[in-house]
Amino acid sequence: MLVRALTVGPFQENAYLLADESSRDAVLIDPGDEGDRLVDAVEAGGLTLRALWITHAHLDHVGGIAAVKRRLDVPVWLHPADRPLYDRVVEQGRKFGVVIEAPPAPDHELAEGDVVTVGALSFGVIHVPGHAPGHVAFVGHGVVFGGDCLFAGSIGRTDLALSDPRALARSLERFSALPAETTVYPGHGPATTIGEENRTNPFLTGAVRLITR
Ligand SMILES: [Zn+2]
Ligand SMILES: [Zn+2]
Repeated sequence: MLVRALTVGPFQENAYLLADESSRDAVLIDPGDEGDRLVDAVEAGGLTLRALWITHAHLDHVGGIAAVKRRLDVPVWLHPADRPLYDRVVEQGRKFGVVIEAPPAPDHELAEGDVVTVGALSFGVIHVPGHAPGHVAFVGHGVVFGGDCLFAGSIGRTDLALSDPRALARSLERFSALPAETTVYPGHGPATTIGEENRTNPFLTGAVRLITR
C-alpha cells in the first residue's frame, strides 16, 4: 500500500494519494486544491487513478475536483448528507474570499458500512458526522483517513454551518475505539495514531469537554 500526503491550497489541506502498489490502481482522497499537481503526482507514480473519495464537502476538501476531472474523469464518491455543502461550494469559497470552481455532481453515494476498494485494498466506510453532516472516514489496513474529525492534538471545528458538536462527540468515540496502533491520516496537520491521541489529545482524554451543557 502506498500513501502519500500532498498538502494543498490556502487551507493547507492534506490530499492523500492511496494506491495498491502491485496493481498500480490509485484513488485521491479529498483533492481540495491544486488538482493539476495531484494529477501530476498520480502520473509521476505510474499509477492509474480510479476514483475520488471525499470525507466531507467543505471547500478545502473538494476545491480541486473540477481540475482533476478535467484531466482524469474518474467518479466522485460522497455521503449524500454532505450534498448541501457540495452543491454550495462556490458560496463557501466566497465567504472565505477564495475562488472555487464548482465540481461536477458526485457519481456515487457513500454510506455507513460500505466497503470501497482500490486494486486489492479494501476500506470500510464509517459515517462520522459532527464537523459536517455527511462526514465519513475510510478505515482499513491499519490506517484511517479521518478528514476533519480528529487531528494530532485537536479536533474538527463545530462552529460551522451544519456542524453538530454532540454528533462529533459521538463520532470521536468511534475513532477512540479503533485499535491503538491505527495510523490516523487527518485532513490537516501531521499523521498520528489512535493510541497517541487517546493518551494525549485533551478532547479524547476528557481534559476538555466538547459538550458543556
Ligand atoms: Zn472541514
Ligand atoms: Zn478541512
